[in-house]
Amino acid sequence: KEEVLRKPDWLKIKLNTNDNYTGLKKMMREQSLHTVCEEARCPNIHECWAVRRTATFMILGDVCTRACRFCAVKTGLPTELDLKEPERVADSVVAMNLKHVVVTAVARDDLKDGGAAVFAETVRAIRRKNPFTSIEVLPSDMGGVHENLQLLMDAKPDILNHNIETVKRLTPRIRARATYERSLEFLRRAKEMQPEVPTKSSIMIGLGETKEEIIEAMDDLRANHVDILTIGQYLQPSKKHLKVVKYYHPDEFNELREIALQKGFSHCEAGPLVRSSYHADEQVNAAAKQ
Ligand code: SF4
Ligand code: SF4
Repeated sequence: KEEVLRKPDWLKIKLNTNDNYTGLKKMMREQSLHTVCEEARCPNIHECWAVRRTATFMILGDVCTRACRFCAVKTGLPTELDLKEPERVADSVVAMNLKHVVVTAVARDDLKDGGAAVFAETVRAIRRKNPFTSIEVLPSDMGGVHENLQLLMDAKPDILNHNIETVKRLTPRIRARATYERSLEFLRRAKEMQPEVPTKSSIMIGLGETKEEIIEAMDDLRANHVDILTIGQYLQPSKKHLKVVKYYHPDEFNELREIALQKGFSHCEAGPLVRSSYHADEQVNAAAKQ
């Protein structure tokens, strides 16, 4: 029988049940909006929504055409394209009084533009209604099509984030439809299109990678001019998902952060509960100071 790893103490955090987001959560339902914060039951929701005034919206529906083996989002064939969604997201950013917003989307491989037009319009709508809110976009590779990325970069987000998610060797097992090289190329092209927009990527560790492979991923990202890196612990969303191979100690995360900074990343967040959008507000400031 396979051994199941016990969760270490530093991952046992209490969710704040006595929260005061009931109004915001109700608004999300009424507006048919989805946030990663709620859907992934992110442990940082109190800090992000109430203290830092950051949230991560997931647009283009809640059904993804891909089925990455670490991800809890539903898989299937989406049916609709909601053209009014950008305005509703922008209105919610006003209602939540956000300083920084992350916009991500399911992969819409069923659409010719991979959802790029709606994505770009969401950035513009948020900007129109919230000129002081920084906007980070976190797209899938949108089919690796150059024009799709161009549409999004033309909307001038404050940060372009695209996650490689794992090291090179494990990518085929973990992200079935994406490729490591295509993601690196996507990041490099984003930089070529808008050199002043910082680029960012993220990896989850605990899936069986070695330290050398993590360092190789850092080198590959730097070779493609990526500015910001986040490294977090992989947690298994359900029994159907990949098992955790290792829980890294906070000291190991600190060491990885030091290595990343030596490699030339302008900012690196690394820790057991770090998510791609965690402390993203600080990263905009760090990037602006460069
Ligand atoms: Fe939402 Fe990201 Fe903050 Fe989690 S870390 S609550 S997903 S913004
Ligand atoms: Fe999840 Fe993104 Fe993979 Fe879709 S493409 S399954 S949303 S990680």
